[in-house]
Amino acid sequence: MEITIPSLLRIKPNALYKIGKYLRNEKFNQIALFLGEGIKELFYKELLISFESSEIKVRYEQVVTGNSVEESFKQGTTLPSGISAIVAIGGGKAIDFCKYLAFINQLPLVTVPTAISNDGFASPMASLTIDGKRKSFKTAIPYGVIVDTEIIRNSPAIFTYSGIGDLISKYTALYDWKLAFKKTGEPVNDFAAIISRSSVDTLFYYSPKNIQDHQFLGLIANSLLISGIAMEIARSSRPASGSEHLISHAYDKIAPNTSTHGIQVGVATYAVSFLQQITHETVKNAIVQTGFLDFVSTHKLKKSAFIESIKMANDIKENFYTILSERNSIEQLIQFIDNDDIIAKMME
Ligand SMILES: [Zn+2]
Repeated sequence: MEITIPSLLRIKPNALYKIGKYLRNEKFNQIALFLGEGIKELFYKELLISFESSEIKVRYEQVVTGNSVEESFKQGTTLPSGISAIVAIGGGKAIDFCKYLAFINQLPLVTVPTAISNDGFASPMASLTIDGKRKSFKTAIPYGVIVDTEIIRNSPAIFTYSGIGDLISKYTALYDWKLAFKKTGEPVNDFAAIISRSSVDTLFYYSPKNIQDHQFLGLIANSLLISGIAMEIARSSRPASGSEHLISHAYDKIAPNTSTHGIQVGVATYAVSFLQQITHETVKNAIVQTGFLDFVSTHKLKKSAFIESIKMANDIKENFYTILSERNSIEQLIQFIDNDDIIAKMME
C-alpha cells in the first residue's frame, strides 16, 4: 500500500514570508496561485516580494469564490501548461477547492491555511458542493503545508477554538471506530489509530494552553496535520471522525444559525462521550483545560436544534456504526442533554 504524506512542512511564525524560498527548494518555480477572499488585501505585497526574491513565477492567479466541484473542474481547463505546483492560501473554502483542482490535474498542492479551524488543510478529503449539495470527496493529501503561527495568532479566536474542538473529537471517533470493529468487523488500522490518539494527547499535556502562544498554536496545527495524515493512512475518515461528526453534519442541515464545524464537533464530542463512558472524563478535562468550554459558553449552540440533530445523526452516513447505533442511545443522550450542567453552559 502506498501512502502519500506531505514532504514540505513548515509551522512557525512568519513562515508565509519565506514561501518563495520554500517553493524554490522544491523546484516549484512556476505556480498557479489561489487566494481566499480577503487574503489579497492582507498579505499580497509581502507575498509578491517573497516570490520575486526567489524567482518564483506566478503564472496564474485567482481569488476563490466558489466551492463546487463543477467550478473546480472548469478551473482546471483554464490553467496554463507548465505549472509545477498549485498554491492555496486562505481558509477551508479556498483550500478544499484547490485540493480537488490539484487532484484532477495531478499537480502538487501547497496549502497555507490562514486559520486552523479544522484538519482540512492537511487531509485528503475535500468538502465541496455538487449539484448544490455539500459532499466530501476523496482527493490527495497536500504535498506541502505552511502554517504561519503569527497569522494564526491574529485570526479570530473562534477559528482556533474550532481547531481544538475538531481535535478533541479524536477521542470519541477512535472509540467509535473500535466499537464498529467489534460490532461489524470493520477493520481498524492500528497505526492510524495510534497517531491520531497521540496527536490529541500531545496537545493536552502541553502547558500553558494559551491561544496567543506560538508553541501552543504550532502544536494545534501539528496535531491537526497528523490527524489528516492518519486519514490518509487508514484510507478513511475513521481516525478523525465518528458519531460526534454525524451530529455536527446533521446540525448543519437543521440549525437556523450554524456555528463552525469545530465548535459543533467539540460540543457533540462532549455529548457522545457521556454514552461512551470511558472517554467522558478525558473529554471533559480537555474542554475545560483548553478554554473550549469557556469560549463556547459565549457562543452557544441551539439546544432544540442539537436534539433534532441527535435524532437525525444515524441517517447522515450509511454503514457507519457508532455509539449512536447502539440500542436506546439516542434516548439516553437526549436525556443527558436535558440535565447536564456543562451542556447547559454550551447551549441555549
Ligand atoms: Zn472534523
